[in-house]
Parts: sequence; C-alpha cells; structure tokens
Amino acid sequence: MKVLDGKALAATIKEELKQEVDTIRLAGGKIPHLAAVLVGEDPASQVYVRNKVKSCEMVGFQSSLIRRPAEITQTELLEIVDELNKNPDIDGFIVQLPLPKHLDENTINLAIDPKKDVDGFTPVNIGMMTLGLPSYLPATPNGIVTMLDRYGIETSGKEVVVLGRSNIVGTPMTILLSRKGNPGNATVTMCHSRTKDLAFHTKRADILIAAIGIPEMVTADMVKEGAVIIDVGINRVEDASRKRGYRLCGDVDYAGLEGKVAAMTPVPGGVGPMTIVSLMMNTLAASKR
Ligand code: NAD
Repeated sequence: MKVLDGKALAATIKEELKQEVDTIRLAGGKIPHLAAVLVGEDPASQVYVRNKVKSCEMVGFQSSLIRRPAEITQTELLEIVDELNKNPDIDGFIVQLPLPKHLDENTINLAIDPKKDVDGFTPVNIGMMTLGLPSYLPATPNGIVTMLDRYGIETSGKEVVVLGRSNIVGTPMTILLSRKGNPGNATVTMCHSRTKDLAFHTKRADILIAAIGIPEMVTADMVKEGAVIIDVGINRVEDASRKRGYRLCGDVDYAGLEGKVAAMTPVPGGVGPMTIVSLMMNTLAASKR
C-alpha cells in the first residue's frame, strides 16, 4: 500500500511557495500577509491556528494572530472582521471555526470580504467554485485535490464516495470532483448521517473520502480491494498509555485497511498539512490581486 504522505508533500509545496515569496521580496513586491482570528480556548483550534501561523513564518509570509476571549460579543467580532476587510496590508484572513455557541457563524462568514476569504467559505467563493469560475477554493477539499493531482491519482470516470456533507469539507469536495477538470470528472456519491446502508456505497468506491468525525468508523469490510482512501477525520481517542492521555486517529481503521487498499492518507500527517498548504496558496493568490 502506498502511504499518501501529506506532511512530506506539504513540505515540498511550502518550499515552492518560499521560493516564490523570495522572488517577490527581491523584486520589491508585496509580501503575502495572512491574519487569523481565534476566539476562545478550544484546544484543537489553538493547535490548528498555531500551525497556520508557523507555516506562514516558514514560507516567509507575514502573519497576524488576533486572539479574543470566548465572551466576545457578535458586534465586537463583526468589528474585527470589518477592520480586516478594510486593512490594505492584510491580503487574506480566516476566522477559526467552531465559534462559541452565542456567536452566529453564518453572520460572521457573510461579513467577510470574498476577496480576502482565503478559507473559501463565503457564498461568493462557493458559488464561483460551483460555476467552475476562478475562486478561493475551500482549504481542505483543495488540499485533497492537490494531493490527488501530485500523487498522479486519476479521478476521471472513477467512482468517488464522499462521507459527510459539511459546508467546509463534504459538500465542496463533492462539487470539485464532479466538475469538469483535472482532478475532477468523477462520478460522485455523497453520503451522510441519513444514508441507508453506508457500506453498499463505500464498497463501490474507487476513491473513498471520509469526513465524518467518528473514530475509525470505516472498517476493512466496507471498502473495495485496491481503493484509494482519503481520511479527513481528526479524532481524539482516550489512551491512557500515551503521555497526553489520548491519541489522534481518523475516520478510517488504518491498521485494518492497510492490507486491502492501494493507497491511504495517515492521520495525523495526511490531509491536515495539505489543508494548511492550500490556505497558503490562496493567500499568495490574494496578495497578487
Ligand atoms: P461535521 O461534523 O460538520 O460533519 C460531519 C458529517 O458527517 C455530517 O455531514 C454528517 O451528515 C456526516 N455523518 C455523521 N454520521 C455519519 C454516519 N454514521 N454515516 C455517514 N455520515 C455521517 O464535520 P466536518 O467539519 O466536515 O469534519 C469532519 C471530520 O474532519 C472531523 O473529524 C474534523 O475534525 C475533520 N476535519 C479535518 C480537517 C483537516 O484538515 N484534516 C479539516 C476539517 C475537518
């Protein structure tokens, strides 16, 4: 089985980005500047945002981290979004999700200027993507498409099954792979929590993309021999044998599938690093506009 090593691929792409930023710097051009807004103390969000800021530093981008306590009001957060929209030095920004319950994620998302929406979550960018027009593609699906492309995994005419229909992963993933293009041109089935007989669908998949958030739910009996498995899930499972008391795993039973499938992403080190790289690529594109 081939391991689809997102960590190594992301490092290669970051090196390419760094070279491009060096060229821009030498020419006296605008250095890409990404801002991240982090609300509250969610431990996973803190790790994600820290990794994004660290990646910016690695490739020579400027980055700004705006931290606010969980008690921030909707109006205060909207003011921050407005300032970032107006600040000419900021090329793109993200508001890390999930937000605390009292804040309305849709309202915040709608307030982000689509030209700075490097997460690709605003209606304008989702709409442009759906029409096949140039846009900022959502980071995780774009990271997956980049990975399929760089590993030379053919999608045209293939049966792709996507598990999950979230706005940030499942739905845009389905759109991207079913549209004309390369990667694309696949026959895509989207499954979700109301899907009856999940295994019926997963067993048909040449490429199976799992974005559910249930630890190791996809087992060997559910997949076709020789399939390509993209595991988006990042789950914490209690594990007393680990120093930190938990281990990370995906939505797929990696050890169980290893002997059966052709290629698979590990967790961690698969889709996660590709998501960050995709955000960097969007920020570079934003700085060139
Ligand atoms: P979400 O909770 O918004 O959506 C989960 C989806 O799974 C829903 O659409 C739901 O219908 C579906 N689902 C739930 N139970 C199901 C079942 N039994 N069978 C089939 N479908 C079922 O999650 P999300 O934001 O899309 O994230 C999914 C997972 O991916 C999470 O573990 C998250 O942490 C991870 N994630 C990873 C990255 C990354 O960069 N690697 C990025 C985003 C999300």
